[in-house]
Amino acid sequence: MTNFIYENTWQENLELFKTKKVAVIPVGSNEQHGPALPTGTDWMLAEYLGREVGKKSDSVVVAPTVPIGHATYHADFPGTLAVSTATLARYVFEICEDLVNYGITHILFLNGHGGNNTALYDVGQELRLRGIPVANIQWFDIAGTFDPEWGLRGHGDITETSAMMHVFPEGVKLEKAHLPENKHLGKIKVLDLHTGEFEGAAVYLNLRTKDCSELGDMIEYGHGQGLDYSVSACDSSAELGRKCLDACVDYICRFIEEFKTVSFE
Ligand SMILES: [Zn+2]
Repeated sequence: MTNFIYENTWQENLELFKTKKVAVIPVGSNEQHGPALPTGTDWMLAEYLGREVGKKSDSVVVAPTVPIGHATYHADFPGTLAVSTATLARYVFEICEDLVNYGITHILFLNGHGGNNTALYDVGQELRLRGIPVANIQWFDIAGTFDPEWGLRGHGDITETSAMMHVFPEGVKLEKAHLPENKHLGKIKVLDLHTGEFEGAAVYLNLRTKDCSELGDMIEYGHGQGLDYSVSACDSSAELGRKCLDACVDYICRFIEEFKTVSFE
């Protein structure tokens, strides 16, 4: 018997669910990641984290990865496979319902793709109504707290490229990495896919990736404080990726020990 639901028989899982009350669900996306990274990047990294957390933590069961998420705005770049927010939310919610029926009391999403957040939040709210605590950790959001240099610079940035050099090096075309430049919309500066800046104030935008990026990768301003956005993915290394993901795994395991004590009236 292992902590991985998909490796066990149903009889082993019956035993597993008697003692393990926290379910980890890696959620990703299969979407273009610019010229250097494979389209599977987001789900591969989520799956890797689920794998490592499941090996290290005694408190969890790990569900199979949900590999396709909400990324319809990337779909002008071939190989992007995406579903709507409503479809993703419904799909993930029904998976959670099964887990709860087996005795799971706490659910942690390891989300590899920011576009899934709305759906996962909706799922969390529905489960909260049933008294189930739900949390969602995005490795690229927490990485910058361990080392500011690992902060999120953008889609296909140095940290993400380095992470993939550690997890799936054969899929990285480092010679194609470059420093992207976001297209402007007139005087509106594109901060990321969903936000722009005009006269110093932020506005929400409804863009497709091709509206602001030539090759699919882009800078996402505003995630980290004081980050140097001129750092390019060309300087990525497997060593940087390993250190960053190791720190994320350790943090997630510590978080789980605290999270499993959370309960609502
Ligand atoms: Zn990504």
